[in-house]
Amino acid sequence: MKFKENISLAAYSHYKIGGPARFFFEAKNEREILWAMKEAKRMRIPVFVLAGGTNVLMDDKGFEGLVLRPAIGGVHAVGGARKGLVEAGAGASMDALLAFALRRSLAGLEWAGGLPGTVGGAVRGNAGCFGGEMKDSIVSVRSFDPRTMKVRTRTVKQCAFGYRDSVFKRLEKRTGGGEIVLSAVFRLAKGDAKAIARAAKEKIAYRKKHQPLEYANIGSMFKNVPLEKIHPKRSAKYRAAVAAGEVSYKGTRFSVKTDPFPVIAAAKLIGEAGLRGVSMGGAMISPKHPNFIVNALGASSWDVAVLMLLAKEVVRRRFGVRLEEEVQMI
Ligand SMILES: Cc1cc2nc3c(=O)[nH]c(=O)nc-3n(C[C@H](O)[C@H](O)[C@H](O)COP(=O)(O)OP(=O)(O)OC[C@H]3O[C@@H](n4cnc5c(N)ncnc54)[C@H](O)[C@@H]3O)c2cc1C
Repeated sequence: MKFKENISLAAYSHYKIGGPARFFFEAKNEREILWAMKEAKRMRIPVFVLAGGTNVLMDDKGFEGLVLRPAIGGVHAVGGARKGLVEAGAGASMDALLAFALRRSLAGLEWAGGLPGTVGGAVRGNAGCFGGEMKDSIVSVRSFDPRTMKVRTRTVKQCAFGYRDSVFKRLEKRTGGGEIVLSAVFRLAKGDAKAIARAAKEKIAYRKKHQPLEYANIGSMFKNVPLEKIHPKRSAKYRAAVAAGEVSYKGTRFSVKTDPFPVIAAAKLIGEAGLRGVSMGGAMISPKHPNFIVNALGASSWDVAVLMLLAKEVVRRRFGVRLEEEVQMI
């Protein structure tokens, strides 16, 4: 086994942006992950885990370390068929997991119709939409801990999932090198295959209609903003906004979504701040969905970073709200 060298990350990025990785390795099983991590430790180089590349902005300068892709695929039923337990490798696409569930008439993941990326990436960020989140179906997660160089299994509770958050994400911040998700077990319920397919298709159609999928992109750049950032949680204004499903703030009417808790859409804040269609170099704040910054014409990571800063600053000045990045940057 050997690391590849100077591999273009743009080729592995949904954004088609990114310079070279000094070292690059695709691990097809847990043994290869262990080998790669030992090797990186021996070489004293940093490691970045890259999966589907659907949520990462990679620097044009590249990455001076090892980019490790956990390409552990496979989706299979565990235990008796009636239990509804399904295990998926971290490198399996969410599409593959959904297709497996559909073949077995297993319901619970329809919300993820059209969600790009892998199971590992979605677990780590507790991906969610349309009222569903990964945590709703997860039973347990296996991960590789680089501190002990051992594999461990956590129950869903121990994963401490939150809004686009998990123990895996928090460990990265604390230790500078998080655990690598290897696989996850999901509990799904017996359902009606036609209804499951219809629900998933509806989500795909919604995405096509409302998201600028015609351009390279990495999804929503910023997290939606908790309503409590505008009105304190116990205030009468907060309760009234939740009850009405909308709030009037600084002269603008915002819908209040309760997914997964009362929030206002970052897209609406950016749009109302007048930034639809604003571009920098080859990057553009999508007029269709302003929380997407699309790669319209050979954008650089710098172009995107400038638009992100602009969006944050203009929204802060106009609405006094701080946007928090949803995407990861390396
Ligand atoms: C068009 C579009 C729509 C989207 N819609 C949604 C949506 O509705 N809801 C939502 O939540 N997200 C959405 N996203 C974002 C993205 O698809 C998800 O966050 C996805 O789960 C990321 O998976 P990935 O495999 O591409 O991860 P990557 O983008 O490769 O990585 C994302 C982060 O996860 C880490 N990571 C990846 N794999 C592992 C692993 N095995 N172990 C540890 N860390 C890992 C990486 O280091 C990185 O920090 C969308 C993206 C696009 C492009």
